[in-house]
Amino acid sequence: MSPHAGAAEIPEQRVRDLWTRLTRQMRDGVAEGAIRTLRPGVKRGRRSAPHWVYKHEGTACLRCAARIRAEELQGRRLYWCPGCQVVP
Ligand SMILES: [Zn+2]
Repeated sequence: MSPHAGAAEIPEQRVRDLWTRLTRQMRDGVAEGAIRTLRPGVKRGRRSAPHWVYKHEGTACLRCAARIRAEELQGRRLYWCPGCQVVP
């Protein structure tokens, strides 16, 4: 989903699905000692970082090939895919 979507724009079921996915990722992250957004064994370029878009600015998205963007949002660095993350 778009990182620029307001909370009220996101349908309730999407919020519930996101909660389920994120709490599972956090549990896995505690067990592994790191948050992972790529499946184990999947590599992202030459780096071994286990993240789909985090710190991959300017590289192609693994799903849609759009260039990963980075910007400041609320004082934090935001990495996102403008091809995949378009709707709430
Ligand atoms: Zn994408």
